[in-house]
Amino acid sequence: MKNIIRNIKGTKDILSDQTDIWKYLENFIHNHFSKFGYKEIRTPNFENTNLFLKSIGDDTDIVTKEMYSWVDQGNNSLTLRPEFTASVVRAYIQHKLGKQTKSHKLYYIGSSYRRERPQKGRFREFQQFGLEAFGSKYPEQDAEIIYIIYSLYESLNIKNLVLKINSIGSKESRILYKEALQSYFKKYEKKLTDISLKRLKNNPLRILDTKVDFEKDLVIKAPKIIDYLNEEDKDHFNKVLTILEKLNIKYTIDHYLVRGLDYYSRTVFEIQTNSLGSQNALCGGGRYDYLVEQLGGDPTPSIGFAAGLERLILAMGIDTAALNKHPDIYIISLGDKAIEFSMKIANQLRIEKNLIVINDTLKRSLKSQMKDANRLQVKYALIIGDDEIKNKIFCLKNMETGNQEEIELNKILDLF
Ligand code: AMP
Repeated sequence: MKNIIRNIKGTKDILSDQTDIWKYLENFIHNHFSKFGYKEIRTPNFENTNLFLKSIGDDTDIVTKEMYSWVDQGNNSLTLRPEFTASVVRAYIQHKLGKQTKSHKLYYIGSSYRRERPQKGRFREFQQFGLEAFGSKYPEQDAEIIYIIYSLYESLNIKNLVLKINSIGSKESRILYKEALQSYFKKYEKKLTDISLKRLKNNPLRILDTKVDFEKDLVIKAPKIIDYLNEEDKDHFNKVLTILEKLNIKYTIDHYLVRGLDYYSRTVFEIQTNSLGSQNALCGGGRYDYLVEQLGGDPTPSIGFAAGLERLILAMGIDTAALNKHPDIYIISLGDKAIEFSMKIANQLRIEKNLIVINDTLKRSLKSQMKDANRLQVKYALIIGDDEIKNKIFCLKNMETGNQEEIELNKILDLF
Protein backbone atom coordinates (compact mmCIF):
# COMPACT_ATOMS: atom_id res chain seq x y z
CA MET A 1 0.00 0.00 0.00
CA LYS A 2 1.06 3.61 -0.59
CA ASN A 3 2.90 5.38 2.16
CA ILE A 4 -0.21 6.56 4.00
CA ILE A 5 -0.53 7.96 7.51
CA ARG A 6 -1.65 5.26 9.94
CA ASN A 7 -3.04 5.32 13.48
CA ILE A 8 -0.58 5.19 16.38
CA LYS A 9 0.54 1.74 17.56
CA GLY A 10 -1.65 0.57 20.45
CA THR A 11 -4.63 2.70 19.38
CA LYS A 12 -7.49 1.46 17.24
CA ASP A 13 -10.26 2.63 14.95
CA ILE A 14 -13.62 1.22 15.88
CA LEU A 15 -15.19 0.94 12.44
CA SER A 16 -18.87 1.39 11.80
CA ASP A 17 -19.60 -2.35 11.68
CA GLN A 18 -18.31 -2.61 15.28
CA THR A 19 -19.77 0.44 16.97
CA ASP A 20 -23.17 -1.07 17.80
CA ILE A 21 -21.68 -3.41 20.42
CA TRP A 22 -19.85 -0.46 21.98
CA LYS A 23 -23.04 1.59 22.14
CA TYR A 24 -24.94 -1.38 23.52
CA LEU A 25 -22.38 -1.92 26.28
CA GLU A 26 -22.06 1.76 27.11
CA ASN A 27 -25.85 1.96 27.55
CA PHE A 28 -25.81 -1.21 29.59
CA ILE A 29 -23.18 0.24 31.92
CA HIS A 30 -25.01 3.57 32.30
CA ASN A 31 -28.21 1.69 33.19
CA HIS A 32 -26.56 -0.78 35.51
CA PHE A 33 -24.68 1.83 37.54
CA SER A 34 -27.69 4.17 37.65
CA LYS A 35 -29.78 1.43 39.23
CA PHE A 36 -27.49 1.63 42.27
CA GLY A 37 -27.82 5.41 42.47
CA TYR A 38 -24.38 6.19 41.03
CA LYS A 39 -24.20 9.34 38.88
CA GLU A 40 -21.90 9.90 35.93
CA ILE A 41 -18.93 12.28 36.16
CA ARG A 42 -16.90 13.44 33.15
CA THR A 43 -13.43 14.86 33.68
CA PRO A 44 -10.86 16.15 31.14
CA ASN A 45 -8.70 13.67 29.23
CA PHE A 46 -5.56 15.46 30.40
CA GLU A 47 -4.49 16.91 33.72
CA ASN A 48 -1.49 18.48 35.41
CA THR A 49 1.20 15.80 35.56
CA ASN A 50 1.58 16.48 39.27
CA LEU A 51 -1.86 15.03 39.97
CA PHE A 52 -0.74 11.59 38.83
CA LEU A 53 2.70 11.86 40.44
CA LYS A 54 1.10 12.66 43.78
CA SER A 55 -1.54 9.95 43.66
CA ILE A 56 -0.37 6.92 41.71
CA GLY A 57 3.08 6.63 43.27
CA ASP A 58 6.65 7.38 42.18
CA ASP A 59 7.84 3.84 41.69
CA THR A 60 4.82 2.42 39.88
CA ASP A 61 5.13 1.25 36.26
CA ILE A 62 2.57 3.84 35.22
CA VAL A 63 4.54 6.77 36.56
CA THR A 64 8.03 5.54 35.73
CA LYS A 65 7.45 4.47 32.14
CA GLU A 66 3.89 4.56 30.86
CA MET A 67 2.58 8.12 31.06
CA TYR A 68 2.03 10.25 27.98
CA SER A 69 3.35 13.55 29.29
CA TRP A 70 4.45 16.71 27.55
CA VAL A 71 5.20 20.34 28.23
CA ASP A 72 2.77 22.68 26.47
CA GLN A 73 3.39 26.12 24.99
CA GLY A 74 2.68 27.71 28.39
CA ASN A 75 5.39 25.56 30.01
CA ASN A 76 2.88 23.42 31.92
CA SER A 77 3.64 19.76 32.37
CA LEU A 78 0.52 17.87 31.28
CA THR A 79 -0.39 14.18 31.08
CA LEU A 80 -3.08 12.15 29.32
CA ARG A 81 -4.90 10.39 32.15
CA PRO A 82 -3.55 6.87 32.70
CA GLU A 83 -6.57 6.13 34.93
CA PHE A 84 -9.60 7.97 36.30
CA THR A 85 -9.42 7.80 40.10
CA ALA A 86 -6.94 10.66 40.45
CA SER A 87 -9.06 12.92 38.22
CA VAL A 88 -12.31 12.04 39.97
CA VAL A 89 -10.73 12.67 43.37
CA ARG A 90 -9.36 15.99 42.13
CA ALA A 91 -12.84 17.01 40.94
CA TYR A 92 -14.36 15.80 44.22
CA ILE A 93 -12.02 18.04 46.19
CA GLN A 94 -12.07 21.01 43.80
CA HIS A 95 -15.88 21.20 43.64
CA LYS A 96 -16.29 20.48 47.35
CA LEU A 97 -18.60 17.56 46.60
CA GLY A 98 -18.08 16.22 50.11
CA LYS A 99 -19.89 19.27 51.48
CA GLN A 100 -23.03 18.47 49.45
CA THR A 101 -23.71 14.98 50.80
CA LYS A 102 -21.91 12.61 53.15
CA SER A 103 -21.85 9.84 50.60
CA HIS A 104 -21.01 10.66 47.03
CA LYS A 105 -21.35 7.87 44.46
CA LEU A 106 -19.90 8.49 41.00
CA TYR A 107 -19.18 6.50 37.84
CA TYR A 108 -17.31 7.19 34.61
CA ILE A 109 -16.67 5.82 31.13
CA GLY A 110 -13.90 7.06 28.85
CA SER A 111 -10.40 6.68 27.42
CA SER A 112 -7.25 6.08 29.45
CA TYR A 113 -3.72 6.17 28.07
CA ARG A 114 -0.66 4.12 29.01
CA ARG A 115 2.43 3.44 26.97
CA GLU A 116 2.42 -0.31 27.54
CA ARG A 117 3.56 -2.99 25.10
CA PRO A 118 0.51 -3.61 22.92
CA GLN A 119 -0.85 -7.15 22.73
CA LYS A 120 -4.23 -8.92 22.77
CA GLY A 121 -6.39 -7.07 25.32
CA ARG A 122 -3.71 -4.44 25.96
CA PHE A 123 -3.74 -1.09 24.20
CA ARG A 124 -2.13 2.30 24.64
CA GLU A 125 -5.47 4.04 24.38
CA PHE A 126 -8.22 1.96 25.97
CA GLN A 127 -11.68 2.47 27.39
CA GLN A 128 -12.28 2.23 31.09
CA PHE A 129 -15.44 2.36 33.13
CA GLY A 130 -15.61 2.41 36.89
CA LEU A 131 -17.07 3.64 40.14
CA GLU A 132 -15.87 5.77 43.01
CA ALA A 133 -17.83 5.82 46.29
CA PHE A 134 -16.79 8.60 48.68
CA GLY A 135 -17.69 8.91 52.34
CA SER A 136 -18.31 5.44 53.74
CA LYS A 137 -15.68 3.62 55.77
CA TYR A 138 -17.89 0.58 56.27
CA PRO A 139 -17.35 -2.89 54.82
CA GLU A 140 -20.89 -2.76 53.41
CA GLN A 141 -19.62 -0.15 50.94
CA ASP A 142 -16.78 -2.44 49.84
CA ALA A 143 -19.25 -5.26 49.30
CA GLU A 144 -21.62 -3.00 47.34
CA ILE A 145 -18.84 -1.95 44.96
CA ILE A 146 -17.80 -5.55 44.35
CA TYR A 147 -21.40 -6.67 43.93
CA ILE A 148 -22.09 -3.96 41.34
CA ILE A 149 -19.30 -5.01 39.01
CA TYR A 150 -19.65 -8.74 39.65
CA SER A 151 -23.37 -8.62 38.85
CA LEU A 152 -22.66 -6.57 35.71
CA TYR A 153 -20.41 -9.37 34.42
CA GLU A 154 -22.94 -12.00 35.41
CA SER A 155 -25.76 -10.17 33.62
CA LEU A 156 -23.61 -10.12 30.50
CA ASN A 157 -23.07 -13.86 30.84
CA ILE A 158 -19.30 -13.70 31.30
CA LYS A 159 -18.17 -17.18 32.21
CA ASN A 160 -15.53 -18.39 34.66
CA LEU A 161 -15.35 -15.26 36.78
CA VAL A 162 -12.71 -15.34 39.48
CA LEU A 163 -12.87 -12.70 42.20
CA LYS A 164 -9.52 -12.34 43.96
CA ILE A 165 -9.55 -10.36 47.15
CA ASN A 166 -7.13 -9.32 49.85
CA SER A 167 -6.70 -6.71 52.54
CA ILE A 168 -3.53 -4.65 52.61
CA GLY A 169 -4.59 -3.12 55.92
CA SER A 170 -4.47 0.40 57.21
CA LYS A 171 -1.28 2.43 57.54
CA GLU A 172 -0.79 1.15 61.09
CA SER A 173 -0.93 -2.51 60.10
CA ARG A 174 1.38 -1.93 57.17
CA ILE A 175 4.25 -0.56 59.29
CA LEU A 176 4.89 -3.96 60.88
CA TYR A 177 4.24 -5.82 57.65
CA LYS A 178 6.68 -3.65 55.73
CA GLU A 179 9.38 -4.44 58.28
CA ALA A 180 8.65 -8.16 58.00
CA LEU A 181 8.85 -8.02 54.21
CA GLN A 182 12.08 -6.03 54.32
CA SER A 183 13.81 -8.52 56.55
CA TYR A 184 12.51 -11.42 54.43
CA PHE A 185 13.63 -9.99 51.06
CA LYS A 186 16.94 -8.75 52.53
CA LYS A 187 17.98 -12.39 52.72
CA TYR A 188 17.74 -12.55 48.91
CA GLU A 189 19.17 -9.10 48.25
CA LYS A 190 21.84 -10.40 45.87
CA LYS A 191 19.23 -12.06 43.63
CA LEU A 192 16.75 -9.19 43.40
CA THR A 193 16.38 -7.05 40.30
CA ASP A 194 17.45 -3.40 40.54
CA ILE A 195 13.87 -2.23 40.60
CA SER A 196 12.96 -4.58 43.45
CA LEU A 197 16.04 -3.46 45.36
CA LYS A 198 14.81 0.11 45.09
CA ARG A 199 11.35 -0.97 46.20
CA LEU A 200 12.82 -2.94 49.09
CA LYS A 201 13.91 0.32 50.61
CA ASN A 202 10.91 2.53 49.90
CA ASN A 203 7.90 0.34 49.31
CA PRO A 204 8.53 -3.40 49.74
CA LEU A 205 4.86 -4.25 49.14
CA ARG A 206 5.37 -3.45 45.51
CA ILE A 207 7.82 -6.35 45.20
CA LEU A 208 4.79 -8.62 45.60
CA ASP A 209 3.61 -7.29 42.24
CA THR A 210 6.75 -8.52 40.46
CA LYS A 211 6.48 -10.00 36.97
CA VAL A 212 9.91 -11.69 37.19
CA ASP A 213 9.67 -15.48 37.58
CA PHE A 214 12.35 -16.12 40.21
CA GLU A 215 11.05 -13.21 42.29
CA LYS A 216 7.55 -14.67 42.03
CA ASP A 217 8.93 -17.84 43.64
CA LEU A 218 10.28 -15.75 46.50
CA VAL A 219 6.94 -13.99 46.88
CA ILE A 220 5.12 -17.29 47.47
CA LYS A 221 7.11 -17.82 50.66
CA ALA A 222 7.05 -14.20 51.82
CA PRO A 223 5.15 -13.15 54.98
CA LYS A 224 1.44 -12.62 54.42
CA ILE A 225 -0.22 -9.30 55.26
CA ILE A 226 -3.17 -11.10 56.80
CA ASP A 227 -0.95 -12.13 59.72
CA TYR A 228 -0.12 -8.49 60.38
CA LEU A 229 -3.57 -6.89 60.23
CA ASN A 230 -4.75 -5.17 63.40
CA GLU A 231 -8.11 -6.18 64.88
CA GLU A 232 -10.06 -3.41 63.13
CA ASP A 233 -8.60 -4.27 59.75
CA LYS A 234 -9.30 -7.97 60.31
CA ASP A 235 -12.91 -7.27 61.32
CA HIS A 236 -13.39 -5.06 58.29
CA PHE A 237 -12.03 -7.71 55.93
CA ASN A 238 -14.04 -10.53 57.49
CA LYS A 239 -17.23 -8.49 57.29
CA VAL A 240 -16.64 -7.83 53.57
CA LEU A 241 -16.18 -11.57 53.01
CA THR A 242 -19.29 -12.44 55.02
CA ILE A 243 -21.46 -10.05 53.00
CA LEU A 244 -20.05 -11.42 49.74
CA GLU A 245 -20.99 -14.92 50.89
CA LYS A 246 -24.51 -13.72 51.69
CA LEU A 247 -24.73 -12.26 48.20
CA ASN A 248 -23.58 -15.58 46.73
CA ILE A 249 -20.38 -14.17 45.32
CA LYS A 250 -17.55 -16.67 45.30
CA TYR A 251 -14.10 -15.28 46.07
CA THR A 252 -10.54 -16.45 46.46
CA ILE A 253 -8.29 -14.77 48.98
CA ASP A 254 -5.03 -13.90 47.25
CA HIS A 255 -2.51 -13.05 49.98
CA TYR A 256 -0.16 -11.39 47.54
CA LEU A 257 -2.64 -9.23 45.69
CA VAL A 258 -1.51 -5.66 46.42
CA ARG A 259 -2.51 -3.94 43.13
CA GLY A 260 -0.16 -1.78 41.15
CA LEU A 261 -0.98 1.62 42.58
CA ASP A 262 0.23 3.05 45.84
CA TYR A 263 -2.97 4.64 47.06
CA TYR A 264 -4.88 1.54 48.13
CA SER A 265 -5.68 0.59 51.73
CA ARG A 266 -7.59 -2.30 53.30
CA THR A 267 -9.72 -4.13 50.69
CA VAL A 268 -8.16 -4.70 47.26
CA PHE A 269 -9.67 -6.93 44.59
CA GLU A 270 -9.48 -8.03 41.00
CA ILE A 271 -11.95 -9.91 38.83
CA GLN A 272 -10.44 -12.18 36.21
CA THR A 273 -11.74 -14.59 33.63
CA ASN A 274 -9.69 -17.38 32.13
CA SER A 275 -11.00 -16.79 28.61
CA LEU A 276 -8.68 -13.84 28.00
CA GLY A 277 -5.17 -15.32 27.90
CA SER A 278 -2.41 -13.45 29.66
CA GLN A 279 -4.32 -10.16 29.98
CA ASN A 280 -6.98 -11.82 32.10
CA ALA A 281 -7.90 -8.97 34.48
CA LEU A 282 -11.36 -7.62 33.72
CA CYS A 283 -11.27 -5.08 36.52
CA GLY A 284 -9.42 -4.08 39.64
CA GLY A 285 -10.02 -1.82 42.55
CA GLY A 286 -9.93 -1.22 46.23
CA ARG A 287 -10.31 1.12 49.14
CA TYR A 288 -8.26 4.32 49.18
CA ASP A 289 -9.01 5.89 52.53
CA TYR A 290 -6.06 8.31 52.47
CA LEU A 291 -6.07 9.57 48.90
CA VAL A 292 -8.54 12.47 49.23
CA GLU A 293 -6.52 13.87 52.13
CA GLN A 294 -3.24 13.20 50.29
CA LEU A 295 -4.48 15.38 47.42
CA GLY A 296 -5.49 18.23 49.71
CA GLY A 297 -9.09 17.38 50.69
CA ASP A 298 -10.63 16.46 54.03
CA PRO A 299 -10.03 12.89 55.22
CA THR A 300 -12.63 10.85 53.30
CA PRO A 301 -12.84 7.07 53.27
CA SER A 302 -13.39 5.95 49.67
CA ILE A 303 -13.40 2.90 47.47
CA GLY A 304 -13.60 2.28 43.73
CA PHE A 305 -12.69 0.07 40.81
CA ALA A 306 -11.77 0.44 37.14
CA ALA A 307 -12.68 -2.02 34.41
CA GLY A 308 -11.64 -2.35 30.77
CA LEU A 309 -14.22 -2.29 27.98
CA GLU A 310 -12.01 -3.94 25.34
CA ARG A 311 -11.45 -6.91 27.62
CA LEU A 312 -15.15 -7.10 28.42
CA ILE A 313 -15.96 -7.32 24.70
CA LEU A 314 -13.27 -9.97 24.25
CA ALA A 315 -14.62 -11.96 27.19
CA MET A 316 -18.15 -11.81 25.80
CA GLY A 317 -16.74 -13.70 22.82
CA ILE A 318 -19.46 -12.49 20.47
CA ASP A 319 -19.42 -11.71 16.79
CA THR A 320 -19.58 -7.94 17.21
CA ALA A 321 -20.61 -7.32 13.60
CA ALA A 322 -23.58 -9.68 13.98
CA LEU A 323 -25.05 -7.30 16.53
CA ASN A 324 -25.30 -4.47 14.06
CA LYS A 325 -28.78 -3.06 13.49
CA HIS A 326 -30.02 -3.42 9.93
CA PRO A 327 -32.06 -0.66 8.29
CA ASP A 328 -35.83 -1.16 8.09
CA ILE A 329 -36.45 0.24 4.62
CA TYR A 330 -34.36 1.01 1.56
CA ILE A 331 -36.15 3.37 -0.81
CA ILE A 332 -35.14 2.61 -4.36
CA SER A 333 -35.64 5.85 -6.28
CA LEU A 334 -35.63 5.88 -10.06
CA GLY A 335 -35.30 9.39 -11.51
CA ASP A 336 -34.85 12.90 -10.09
CA LYS A 337 -38.48 13.39 -9.14
CA ALA A 338 -38.50 10.06 -7.35
CA ILE A 339 -35.51 11.01 -5.21
CA GLU A 340 -37.15 14.23 -4.03
CA PHE A 341 -40.36 12.36 -3.34
CA SER A 342 -38.67 9.49 -1.53
CA MET A 343 -36.69 11.82 0.69
CA LYS A 344 -39.98 13.24 1.95
CA ILE A 345 -41.55 9.85 2.60
CA ALA A 346 -38.35 8.64 4.24
CA ASN A 347 -38.47 11.51 6.71
CA GLN A 348 -42.08 10.80 7.53
CA LEU A 349 -41.22 7.15 8.23
CA ARG A 350 -38.28 8.16 10.40
CA ILE A 351 -40.18 10.76 12.41
CA GLU A 352 -43.59 9.11 12.72
CA LYS A 353 -42.55 5.47 12.86
CA ASN A 354 -39.02 5.72 14.22
CA LEU A 355 -37.65 3.56 11.40
CA ILE A 356 -34.18 3.45 9.87
CA VAL A 357 -34.70 4.44 6.23
CA ILE A 358 -32.03 4.64 3.54
CA ASN A 359 -32.19 6.87 0.47
CA ASP A 360 -29.90 6.17 -2.47
CA THR A 361 -27.83 9.25 -3.27
CA LEU A 362 -25.78 7.79 -6.10
CA LYS A 363 -28.59 7.81 -8.69
CA ARG A 364 -27.96 4.16 -9.42
CA SER A 365 -29.94 1.70 -11.54
CA LEU A 366 -32.72 -0.42 -10.05
CA LYS A 367 -30.40 -3.43 -10.08
CA SER A 368 -27.58 -1.66 -8.27
CA GLN A 369 -29.89 -0.19 -5.65
CA MET A 370 -31.44 -3.60 -5.04
CA LYS A 371 -27.95 -5.03 -4.65
CA ASP A 372 -27.13 -2.32 -2.13
CA ALA A 373 -30.35 -3.03 -0.21
CA ASN A 374 -29.32 -6.70 -0.05
CA ARG A 375 -25.84 -5.80 1.15
CA LEU A 376 -27.32 -3.71 3.96
CA GLN A 377 -29.69 -6.57 4.89
CA VAL A 378 -32.70 -4.27 4.99
CA LYS A 379 -36.11 -5.66 5.84
CA TYR A 380 -38.05 -3.92 3.05
CA ALA A 381 -37.29 -2.24 -0.26
CA LEU A 382 -39.76 0.34 -1.50
CA ILE A 383 -39.54 1.10 -5.22
CA ILE A 384 -40.44 4.61 -6.38
CA GLY A 385 -40.35 5.79 -10.02
CA ASP A 386 -42.23 8.40 -12.03
CA ASP A 387 -45.15 6.03 -12.76
CA GLU A 388 -45.51 5.12 -9.13
CA ILE A 389 -45.67 8.78 -8.14
CA LYS A 390 -48.30 9.44 -10.80
CA ASN A 391 -50.45 6.43 -9.83
CA LYS A 392 -49.75 6.72 -6.11
CA ILE A 393 -49.17 2.94 -6.01
CA PHE A 394 -45.80 1.57 -4.95
CA CYS A 395 -44.06 -1.77 -4.92
CA LEU A 396 -42.94 -2.94 -1.48
CA LYS A 397 -40.62 -5.94 -1.38
CA ASN A 398 -40.11 -7.97 1.78
CA MET A 399 -36.41 -8.74 1.44
CA GLU A 400 -36.54 -11.67 3.86
CA THR A 401 -39.38 -13.58 2.13
CA GLY A 402 -39.03 -12.12 -1.37
CA ASN A 403 -42.77 -11.30 -1.41
CA GLN A 404 -43.81 -8.14 -3.28
CA GLU A 405 -47.01 -6.21 -2.95
CA GLU A 406 -48.54 -3.15 -4.57
CA ILE A 407 -49.43 -0.60 -1.97
CA GLU A 408 -51.04 2.84 -1.92
CA LEU A 409 -49.01 5.73 -0.58
CA ASN A 410 -51.26 6.49 2.37
CA LYS A 411 -51.11 2.81 3.40
CA ILE A 412 -47.33 2.71 3.60
CA LEU A 413 -47.20 4.57 6.85
CA ASP A 414 -49.95 2.40 8.35
CA LEU A 415 -47.99 -0.69 7.52
CA PHE A 416 -45.31 0.03 10.11
P1 AMP B 1 -5.75 -1.10 36.35
O1 AMP B 1 -5.98 0.28 36.83
O2 AMP B 1 -4.42 -1.31 35.71
O3 AMP B 1 -6.09 -2.16 37.37
O4 AMP B 1 -6.79 -1.30 35.18
C1 AMP B 1 -8.14 -1.58 35.39
C2 AMP B 1 -8.67 -2.36 34.22
O5 AMP B 1 -8.50 -1.60 33.01
C3 AMP B 1 -7.93 -3.66 33.96
O6 AMP B 1 -8.46 -4.70 34.76
C4 AMP B 1 -8.17 -3.87 32.48
O7 AMP B 1 -9.45 -4.46 32.26
C5 AMP B 1 -8.18 -2.48 31.93
N1 AMP B 1 -6.84 -2.11 31.39
C6 AMP B 1 -5.77 -1.66 32.07
N2 AMP B 1 -4.74 -1.40 31.24
C7 AMP B 1 -5.19 -1.70 30.01
C8 AMP B 1 -4.60 -1.64 28.69
N3 AMP B 1 -3.36 -1.21 28.50
N4 AMP B 1 -5.36 -2.02 27.64
C9 AMP B 1 -6.63 -2.45 27.81
N5 AMP B 1 -7.23 -2.52 29.00
C10 AMP B 1 -6.53 -2.15 30.09
